[in-house]
Amino acid sequence: MTTVGILGGGQLARMMALAGAPLGLRFSVMDTSADACAGQFAPLVVGDYRDQAALAEFAARIDVATFDFENIPAASAQWLSERVPMFPNPRALGTSQDRLAEKTLFRALDIPVPAFVAVATRDELDAAIATVGAPCILKTRRLGYDGKGQYRLRAASDADAAWQVLGAQATSVGLILEAFVPFERELSVVAVRGRDGTFATWPLTENWHVDGVLSASLAPASVAPAIEALAVAHARALAEALDYVGVFALELFCRDGVLLANELAPRVHNSGHWTIEGAETSQFANHLRAVLGLPLGATRALGQACMLNWVGEMPPCEAVLAEAGGHWHDYGKQARPGRKVGHATLRSDDSEDLAQALVRVGAALGRETQVAPVVARLLT
Ligand code: AMP
Repeated sequence: MTTVGILGGGQLARMMALAGAPLGLRFSVMDTSADACAGQFAPLVVGDYRDQAALAEFAARIDVATFDFENIPAASAQWLSERVPMFPNPRALGTSQDRLAEKTLFRALDIPVPAFVAVATRDELDAAIATVGAPCILKTRRLGYDGKGQYRLRAASDADAAWQVLGAQATSVGLILEAFVPFERELSVVAVRGRDGTFATWPLTENWHVDGVLSASLAPASVAPAIEALAVAHARALAEALDYVGVFALELFCRDGVLLANELAPRVHNSGHWTIEGAETSQFANHLRAVLGLPLGATRALGQACMLNWVGEMPPCEAVLAEAGGHWHDYGKQARPGRKVGHATLRSDDSEDLAQALVRVGAALGRETQVAPVVARLLT
């Protein structure tokens, strides 16, 4: 009996545990919160990731370790990886924890990125704006997620306001200024690499964000084969450079046929949730297969799928469940503004059929604006 340990007990760990049941796996989850939602399916060790006694208790229960979020303290990841095999490795985790290290690696691998400059002081911010140009985005180097820790500057005159919000974090987590990309599309490539180096990607996903939080995903994205090939090549180069094992997502901006890398998420990813029903093998099942050294499953899509995120509170499920290809995921979390509490996936073999299902669900739930860009894409 193999027990997989997951650092972080959110919905990603929960869906991993659900995907691991058919493989006969057991799970143990460590989280700082006693009501972490993965704890509804797996024994939970509650503790601070920096607490070595709690980490030791966790290590004693598991055969292999992975994580469901990237903000695990690097020293804790290192400590655990010296006691239990851990995938992805702490170096991959550490690189993706720091936007500067991440973008520096992208550049070294010839993966195009928006112009960026590290910022440590208020004066450096002015110099960075002069280099990068406006509009631009000031971001924390570490600990940012879902658009948090970011400030958008329309012009150089916004520098004071930006510094007011993020300046205090210049020494603690560091800052980076990035050019704002007026992208036509946001795409992600969700990829998996096995312990033996086998590499695969799911078809590209197109994503729509609202206030920096993922709102909807559509897969397979309709993009030129050359764009898809480029995205896959970038993902493969990263996976090999980091000796990565497991699933990750590479987020990309697409403009004028050019791809610019935004960030690498070293874990199963929200833009890959559609793979649960929309692909031969889900990202969660393949992550576990990779971590355990098992053969990877096929990543081909089954028709088209659209994932709708539920943020803040769950809507009623009936309209989605009434659809032939409607699937419901309630993470069992307390409603709270801005919190991801669940998602729905609508799947169909036919784009027009999927668009009509989305229109019906959007109207029934009063979510017309959430489904609108996806419907428009499906009908063009
Ligand atoms: P991030 O936390 O970096 O993934 O940013 C969250 C979202 O903010 C992205 O998915 C984009 O929609 C937007 N965003 C972040 N960086 C940029 C950028 N340099 N240019 C344009 N939009 C951006």
